[in-house]
Amino acid sequence: MIIGGGSVGLMISYYLLKKGVKSIVIERKYPGSGNTYKCATGIRASFTSKEHIALMKRSIELWSELRDELGVFYERSGYLWLLSREEDLRTFKTYVSFQNELGIPTKIIDLSEVKCLAPTIVIKDLLAAVYDPLAGKASPFDLILQSWRLLVEKGCKVLAGVEAKKILLSKKGILGVETSAGFIESSTVVLATAYDTVKLLEPLNISVPIEPVPKHAFITEAYRDLFKPLIIDWTTSSYIVQTPHGNFLVGSEIPERPSDKLLNRLEFLRKASKVWTKYFPWMKEAYLLRYWTGYYDMTPDHHPIIGPLDDLEGLYIAAGFSGHGFMMSPSVGEVIADWIAEGRPRVPEALNLSMSRFKKGKLIKEIAVFG
Ligand SMILES: Cc1cc2nc3c(=O)[nH]c(=O)nc-3n(C[C@H](O)[C@H](O)[C@H](O)COP(=O)(O)OP(=O)(O)OC[C@H]3O[C@@H](n4cnc5c(N)ncnc54)[C@H](O)[C@@H]3O)c2cc1C
Repeated sequence: MIIGGGSVGLMISYYLLKKGVKSIVIERKYPGSGNTYKCATGIRASFTSKEHIALMKRSIELWSELRDELGVFYERSGYLWLLSREEDLRTFKTYVSFQNELGIPTKIIDLSEVKCLAPTIVIKDLLAAVYDPLAGKASPFDLILQSWRLLVEKGCKVLAGVEAKKILLSKKGILGVETSAGFIESSTVVLATAYDTVKLLEPLNISVPIEPVPKHAFITEAYRDLFKPLIIDWTTSSYIVQTPHGNFLVGSEIPERPSDKLLNRLEFLRKASKVWTKYFPWMKEAYLLRYWTGYYDMTPDHHPIIGPLDDLEGLYIAAGFSGHGFMMSPSVGEVIADWIAEGRPRVPEALNLSMSRFKKGKLIKEIAVFG
């Protein structure tokens, strides 16, 4: 049984089905209604830890399969990291060598190449950029709706409007879950519940180091195709991406404390507009269609917590994605399915991402987090 019908929960169910295991997913609202439908659609392997890179290399292979198998919109349209400080350029040169060693073809490019990738950009105060041609974007709506449709067609259950209230234990392990629709028996339970994982495990005296940090995004009206890559302004921790329908989806980091109360903030609109109208002055005329706030479920080392819980047989976690759960959902779905069906994940680096790393003090470092 899987609790949580976001991208991660549905992908776990999808890859279990590929192994012949039919699961039940319960979702308290409707699939995708958590952070998945609020995400910026970006997919990349240009990270700074071997764990993130290994998971994302596999995910990128799986995204192509999901496009072919389910008809999910996915394209490798690249990421462009704009750099305007000498110290950032030096640091990114070391990340690029690290990524190249692990097979990720990122490269430093000059400003004329930036102009080719985004012809309407006005280049002010920029030194260079990093281009990641392997990165891309996909539709969260397609991923949820197409996998949900297929799961139900093949005899799995995806129950919307059913909330998990309490995980019940027997002397041997997991008995099942008390839900808003009654008790559901299951000796295997996966928590794909983002920050709510903390609340579900509290009654079992298991403390999970995940904090909800509010994040903001807006979307403009649609334009003709203006550029393909997702563009990041590293200095201001901001991003912009054009959706398949032509709208511009924009995010920018503003100071926020962990809180699951999601409030709209004028400060975000001011900052995001200032950053992107500097690069794209024509955006001053753009109408905003919608502004929303979701959260990154952040762990202390900005890596997810995935895998079985040492002290409770049958209980698995897949949460704490720190802003990268949509892109990772295919490979995380697959490794959790491996763990459940075969006892081991096929991506060995996933073994470093279990909860026990916090007890053992084996935290991992990731720098490339933005937005
Ligand atoms: C503005 C923004 C931009 C982002 N951009 C990107 C991006 O470009 N690329 C990327 O990879 N990631 C991005 N992310 C992060 C991404 O959205 C998340 O990491 C991802 O959606 C996590 O998926 P999930 O399935 O773990 O969580 P969710 O989608 O949050 O799903 C968890 C589900 O669990 C359900 N649930 C919780 N408790 C219970 C319960 N007790 N019973 C039943 N159901 C329950 C919730 O209702 C929810 O639907 C972004 C996030 C934000 C906010």
